[in-house]
Amino acid sequence: STLVRSLVKKRVPLQMGRMCYSSVPSTKLFIDGKFVESKSSDWLDIHNPATNEVIGRVPKATQEEMLAAVDSCSQAYKTWSETSVLARQQIFFRYQQLIKDNIKELAKLITLEQGKTLADAEGDVFRGLQVVEHTCSVTSLMLGETLPSLTKDMDTYTYRLPIGVCAGIAPFNFPAMIPLWMFPMGMVCGNTYLLKPSERVPGCAMLLAKLLQDAGAPDGTLNVIHGQHDAVNFICDHPAIKAISFVGSNQAGEYIYERGSKNGKRVQSNMGAKNHGVVMPDANKENTLNQLVGAAFGAAGQRCMALSTAILIGEARDWLPELVERAKSLRVNAGDQPGADVGPLISPQAKERVNSLIQTGVEEGAKVLLDGRDVKVKGYENGNFVGPTIIGNVTTDMTCYKEEIFGPVLVVLEAESLDDAIEIVNSNPYGNGTAIFTTNGAAARKYSHEVDVGQIGVNVPIPVPLPMFSFTGSRGSFRGDTNFYGKQGIQFYTQIKTITSQWKAEDATLKSPAVTMPT
Ligand code: NAD
Repeated sequence: STLVRSLVKKRVPLQMGRMCYSSVPSTKLFIDGKFVESKSSDWLDIHNPATNEVIGRVPKATQEEMLAAVDSCSQAYKTWSETSVLARQQIFFRYQQLIKDNIKELAKLITLEQGKTLADAEGDVFRGLQVVEHTCSVTSLMLGETLPSLTKDMDTYTYRLPIGVCAGIAPFNFPAMIPLWMFPMGMVCGNTYLLKPSERVPGCAMLLAKLLQDAGAPDGTLNVIHGQHDAVNFICDHPAIKAISFVGSNQAGEYIYERGSKNGKRVQSNMGAKNHGVVMPDANKENTLNQLVGAAFGAAGQRCMALSTAILIGEARDWLPELVERAKSLRVNAGDQPGADVGPLISPQAKERVNSLIQTGVEEGAKVLLDGRDVKVKGYENGNFVGPTIIGNVTTDMTCYKEEIFGPVLVVLEAESLDDAIEIVNSNPYGNGTAIFTTNGAAARKYSHEVDVGQIGVNVPIPVPLPMFSFTGSRGSFRGDTNFYGKQGIQFYTQIKTITSQWKAEDATLKSPAVTMPT
């Protein structure tokens, strides 16, 4: 990370309004193959969520810098799009090895800036690495189609071709995995790429960019800019950018989808969620309770596929006290501390928001069965910690049910039957993920078929598909036509050219012009 950051002097306020100079690393821009210091006068602090210490700063790139980055992408596209698919594939073979070699370093950066535990941070890198590994199948994935002899001597075939400069706008919660859903898929297809990582966790993306350069990606094939709204608007508006991949909140995702689409770009927008885990009374109790607790509180609930809502059916309602006991046993600590299960939330604002959503439950008649609001973590008293929290007696009209909490909070609803549970899930506007826990195949099948959610787990709590499939969130969790990675991802990052050719034998030459529509 010292390669992609540099120590700079920065004025920081002291008590009583005095100012002093202190040194914090500044995040570079990656433009045309060089890690450059931004000339911006507008910078944001990066915090360690376990302590709230300022650990670095990130620029809001200037218009000039953003233009330089997209121009670099446009220039590089001319040669990269013509580079042989085998040469592109080789770069990604080297890239996947470099990610494996640097997984610990990448994970450390994630834990430092994002807060999740080191083991979970390695999982974050690993799930992104799997997408990179999948891009190495580009020679099969980019195959076109042919149909010979459509009519006499006539054949039709299609090519799958890149579309130009593409851009990715990433969220804070998966600093490695989500950028790796984006630029490797786009670039292996022959596009060049402009990435805007989350301004809260830019370090990991910068190391990923460095590793891609080391793997042999030519200058300009990947550019990285930083910033917030101005950078996002720039991406939505610049005419050279043909496609945008976005992952993040609904507020930003709907906006980017609309603004990008209006400007004629392809946009795929993965957004927020409220994922339900439906527990049938015939489920394997031990397994189900452990899976629920892991999926609700892992990564401090800051996963778009976290199981944030449980629906207990029939006698499974009696399992609630045991669920609470298991959640209580999780250890809340800084992500780099041995044995930590639940790390801090990303910011004091996120902590405050989560705490106030828990409070709405209290005020609206729910029952807080396990309250993590006043958790104290020794040695990390300033961190953004919230302990595992379980809210029972929740109904669908309550704020804590309707809002995506994005914290270590499990809200628990009860239902009489599977039909009632399906009704609840289908009435919720989000459609990212869900899981059913049961030993009854017919119940599992009924649920999978009737529930209107894009990703369903049967005894699998977090059913994020591997990259040979696609990430298929639906309804309020997705805007666009083609999903991330897998075949859908290749479709998003390519366009089709269809060639119809006729090579006639000489004696079949047309004797006069054919003016009717050929049939
Ligand atoms: P966010 O929307 O705040 O930020 C995502 C990106 O958008 C960042 O790069 C940010 O700079 C930019 N941005 C933020 N607000 C914006 C605005 N008003 N206008 C334009 N751009 C804006 O999201 P986050 O807090 O970083 O991430 C958490 C959210 O992401 C949760 O809602 C979570 O469910 C969602 N998420 C979804 C998926 C998925 O695949 N469906 C995966 C991960 C996270």
